[in-house]
Amino acid sequence: MKTMSDGIKNRESIGTIMADTKVSRPSQEEAEEAVRVLLRWIGEDPGRAGLGRTPTRVVSAYGDWFGGYEIDPYALLGSSFQEVRDYKRIVTLRDIDFSSHCEHHMAPIIGRIHLAYLPDKRLAGISKLVRVVEAFTKRLQVQERLTAEIAQCINDTLRAQGGCSRRRSTTPMHDDARRQQDGCQDGHERNAGGL
Ligand SMILES: [Zn+2]
Repeated sequence: MKTMSDGIKNRESIGTIMADTKVSRPSQEEAEEAVRVLLRWIGEDPGRAGLGRTPTRVVSAYGDWFGGYEIDPYALLGSSFQEVRDYKRIVTLRDIDFSSHCEHHMAPIIGRIHLAYLPDKRLAGISKLVRVVEAFTKRLQVQERLTAEIAQCINDTLRAQGGCSRRRSTTPMHDDARRQQDGCQDGHERNAGGL
């Protein structure tokens, strides 16, 4: 299975994803130039000592933070389950650390989620479930949609009955006034309910 960094380097894979989403992907140079524009916008001098490699580092970091776009969670989970018979126990994964970004401000969201499902005949490995969580968290997100999408993917691919919930998720760079002003109230509540 390819890793996230492999995915970023794989132009064919990127081409497929971009074709699906119908947006053209800028070059590495264009992305780095966009970072220089933002540096100037905040009042910085992109040419000063200390910022020389910052655009390259930022673009590289974005490749990691948003690596979920490189993963097809349905294909991943739908092709990696184990067939089981008479499995009557609920599978639970608790306290999976995640980091994501709100789609309204691209502000970081950090937290933990729990997921649980009752398998019918399909059982997935823990590492695959964690990878599915990454596929959905390492994108621009809205927290309610995040948990719904993970649960939907598990239920559809494993033909299971499952759910997913957030615990202690927060957006540390995001004050309440900004969130209300900008209509981001669905993204950042603290101490969301758990399973
Ligand atoms: Zn936000």
